[in-house]
Amino acid sequence: MDGSRRLMPRRRWVVLLLALAGLVGSLDASAGDADPVYKSCVEKCEQSGCVGDQCFQHCKFSSDGKPVDGPWYMQEPLYLRWKQWDCRSDCRYHCMLAREEERTLLGGKPIKYHGKWPFLRVYGIQEPVSVALSALNLSVQFHGWLSFFILLYYKLPLRPDKKTYYEYTGLWHTYGILSMNSWFWSAVFHSRDVELTEKLDYSSAVALLGFSLILALLRAFNIRDEASRVMFSAPVIAFVTTHILYLNFYQFDYGWNMKVCVAMGIAQLLIWAIWAGVTCHPSRWKLWVVVVGGGLALLLEIYDFPPYMGFVDAHALWHATAIPLSYLWWSFIRDDAELRTTILLKKVK
Ligand SMILES: [Zn+2]
Repeated sequence: MDGSRRLMPRRRWVVLLLALAGLVGSLDASAGDADPVYKSCVEKCEQSGCVGDQCFQHCKFSSDGKPVDGPWYMQEPLYLRWKQWDCRSDCRYHCMLAREEERTLLGGKPIKYHGKWPFLRVYGIQEPVSVALSALNLSVQFHGWLSFFILLYYKLPLRPDKKTYYEYTGLWHTYGILSMNSWFWSAVFHSRDVELTEKLDYSSAVALLGFSLILALLRAFNIRDEASRVMFSAPVIAFVTTHILYLNFYQFDYGWNMKVCVAMGIAQLLIWAIWAGVTCHPSRWKLWVVVVGGGLALLLEIYDFPPYMGFVDAHALWHATAIPLSYLWWSFIRDDAELRTTILLKKVK
């Protein structure tokens, strides 16, 4: 009895350490690309240009790296580098497919290669489901933003100076533009994962998260005068800008970025949750649904699983949950605009 009780905490520590080691390992290198069979397959492919009986035209190099044929512009250094990239990408993809097929026959489960699950490409698109869902999210955001615009400028009364009564119009416009921008780069990144598209996707997501944190602060604390708004948003803007510059020009640190994003995400969920708890806003139930749904969706980002049938993984599902949540979110924003406008109109009269 006693011994087992004394053992418990120690065992828990071991489990925690193993879990942490697994996490660090998965962030650093993946099991797939450490596999010797896969490694030698890629090496051979980059020399011969073939995996099995499948050959790739991007890999047509002679032994000294010069192209075998083609006009002068196809022998330019930049073009050659691009071609070498495409050759490597094709080799890695087809070696991964071959290796995963072998492993499945032996009863193995999917493993990650270069930090990514083995996805099946469709017309050269790396993660077709995530691309489609990003595009769908982009259209939901556009619809939400457009209906917000129409409500404010064509349905609700305007002030004599042609401005809206609602005090958060400009902020929600910026929010709409930043979220459409972020879904656009998400679609690009999931179709072709290279350094540039990755940086653009991550930077836009961080900018959106930072801005929506500012919005949560300003709306929940009901901050309407310019000076206080600047005071509240300046530290967040400074932090987010520094973080984006750090990611792009100093070190692209996935672990640190994940922590920053989860922290900013949880902070705004908490702000909205507390506000929903104390406010008498008639649409506060929409806030509750978005907060609970957003929290559950965050679990999908943290609890990662391999793609089902080579297509649907945790990240794709996370994109899917964002669709109904965004729809409801814009509906809350429209309700808020209507409510504030009626309150302000009553004051005027
Ligand atoms: Zn994504």
